[in-house]
Amino acid sequence: MSKRILITGAAGFLGSHLCDKFIAEGYEVLGMDNLITGDLKNIEHLFGNENFVFHHHDVTNFVHVPGQLDYILHFASPASPIDYLKIPIQTLKVGSLGTHNLLGLAKEKNARILIASTSEVYGDPLVHPQTEEYYGNVNTIGPRGVYDEAKRFQESITMAYHRFHGLETRIVRIFNTYGPRMRLNDGRVIPAFIGQALRGEDLTVFGDGSQTRSFCYVDDQVDGIYRLLLSDYSDPVNIGNPHEITIKDFAEEIIKLTATDQKVIYKPLPKDDPMQRQPNITRAKEILGWEPKVDRAEGMKITYEYFKSLTPEELNKKDH
Ligand code: NAD
Ligand code: UDP
Repeated sequence: MSKRILITGAAGFLGSHLCDKFIAEGYEVLGMDNLITGDLKNIEHLFGNENFVFHHHDVTNFVHVPGQLDYILHFASPASPIDYLKIPIQTLKVGSLGTHNLLGLAKEKNARILIASTSEVYGDPLVHPQTEEYYGNVNTIGPRGVYDEAKRFQESITMAYHRFHGLETRIVRIFNTYGPRMRLNDGRVIPAFIGQALRGEDLTVFGDGSQTRSFCYVDDQVDGIYRLLLSDYSDPVNIGNPHEITIKDFAEEIIKLTATDQKVIYKPLPKDDPMQRQPNITRAKEILGWEPKVDRAEGMKITYEYFKSLTPEELNKKDH
């Protein structure tokens, strides 16, 4: 009998790729989403597949799923700074109440649960690159605190269920991941820069562009999550690509990739924007035998092709 897995945030960027992966691996997939930042377009190709069902549901309300459940992936949460600044309370609720509901469901069904944490638990890190042992540097009351602290609480309650109830839990700390199906106007740097290049606008670099990020292609991220779920390791694991770049250099790379002659313009740096970010992936290599395979040039080419295929209406849509 095939294994049944519940994936929350299924209509989002990562959730939809995870649905594809688990369907391809022969699982029965229940996708759940309230569509607050996601889009059914990301999973419409799965409608009609006998191994896929979709539940339109807000996971901050009691979650009920009939029948057996073997695994839960909790990926529901606004994930871009623009989104979580626009819906701060929902962000806190999905990380806290939503996670509590799903842990309760996992306990009831005797299912293994993996929760999507983030490099943001390290805040504006004082340790570089970030290892899982680092406790982080988060401004609890700053505007980003709603996301960072929700995710930190999510990790704590997950470990409490693991220790107190003996629940099988997994925690992935995801570093900036990109690829097809990102929302063009979610404000994250890759859709922002590509969208600007495609519309013939200048690329907006925040601050002086000396801040760094390390971008992981979605297929690598999904492979890391898959391996972690099936492992027997319950402490957090960083999954990301350690290849680091400044945002200013990245803007130049996009200008070359898109073969446009756009300029870079500078805008104020958002409050608490981390100055550097790079995963230490020693743990993922040792425990999961995982490391990224897709380099930025290759991943960005695929991502650019995806955004180029959008309709002019989609390209010019300003809000979700
Ligand atoms: P996304 O916005 O594309 O997807 C999130 C999905 O969750 C959306 O479809 C949204 O509608 C859904 N959702 C939000 N609140 C919900 C609720 N209360 N009930 C049901 N559904 C809800 O974002 P993403 O990039 O795919 O991120 C997915 C997860 O991965 C998030 O938990 C995010 O924090 C985490 N993550 C992502 C990245 C990244 O680089 N993409 C980095 C770190 C962590
Ligand atoms: N950024 C930028 N211009 C934009 C959007 C983002 O310079 O139009 C910067 C942002 O300030 C941050 C980096 O790009 O330093 C990555 O931002 P993103 O929102 O993608 O991810 P996060 O800050 O959550 O890592």
